[in-house]
Amino acid sequence: SMEELIENERTSSIVRLAAGVAHELGNPLNSLTIHLQLIERKLKKLAQDKESAQLAESVQVCQGEVQRLDGIITHFLEAVRPQKPELNELELVQLVEEVLHVQEAELSNRDIEVNIEVNDEIPSVLGDRGQIKQVFFNLVKNAMEAMQPGGRLSILAKKDDDFVYLQFSDTGSGISEEELSKVFQAYYTTKSEGHGLGMMIVQRIMREHGGQITIESRKDVGTAITLQFPQPHRRVKMLEGGNS
Ligand code: ADP
Ligand code: MG
Repeated sequence: SMEELIENERTSSIVRLAAGVAHELGNPLNSLTIHLQLIERKLKKLAQDKESAQLAESVQVCQGEVQRLDGIITHFLEAVRPQKPELNELELVQLVEEVLHVQEAELSNRDIEVNIEVNDEIPSVLGDRGQIKQVFFNLVKNAMEAMQPGGRLSILAKKDDDFVYLQFSDTGSGISEEELSKVFQAYYTTKSEGHGLGMMIVQRIMREHGGQITIESRKDVGTAITLQFPQPHRRVKMLEGGNS
């Protein structure tokens, strides 16, 4: 599968070459964006006849496509980038709040209610700040995209002796049992504008942190995604090869 290809061959010459090409595409895309904006502005100053309206429409299509290319490249680079987490002490609940803050406008535009429940005193865990924020971002985005206006995203933080758990529950479209096994595959998407890399990235980051992700879902009811993070003492045990 594509996922295995990316996983196994991440450092292979082909993937490195592709990543290089993707990276190189950034500059011409930027230039296209700027010039399309210029054209758009000039067009607005021209006589508003039918022909210039048609031109303006074409320019808009181009802008949309340039954005799409940019998205594809960004996600591809994200997926192939070799990642060794840089470990710091993280307050997970605070990080979730930061991510929600970034998505606040879109959440309220879509009339989605968010609540956070913190059951226990949550200890800090070791993790890469940027990568863990990426995990939360991808999950919140998916939940948001799965829900109708009036939906609710509930985030629950709890712990036991060895782990911290964060659960993201949404009242969205849910995932059928057949689909469930495909969610983590690279390029699997059910969205017309999707890239199908978000969940693959989430799973990889969680694994690289010694953590886990599990999904429970029911079609048309909603989805609950649980992230499990080892507490620092547990990570030490894992590194020493203990499995209790
Ligand atoms: P994308 O969001 O670009 O489609 P992802 O890898 O993030 O790619 O997700 C893959 C697919 O998993 C989605 O297209 C969707 O079908 C399903 N999915 C993920 N999260 C949810 C969710 N919270 N509710 C419903 N479906 C989901
Ligand atoms: Mg997604």
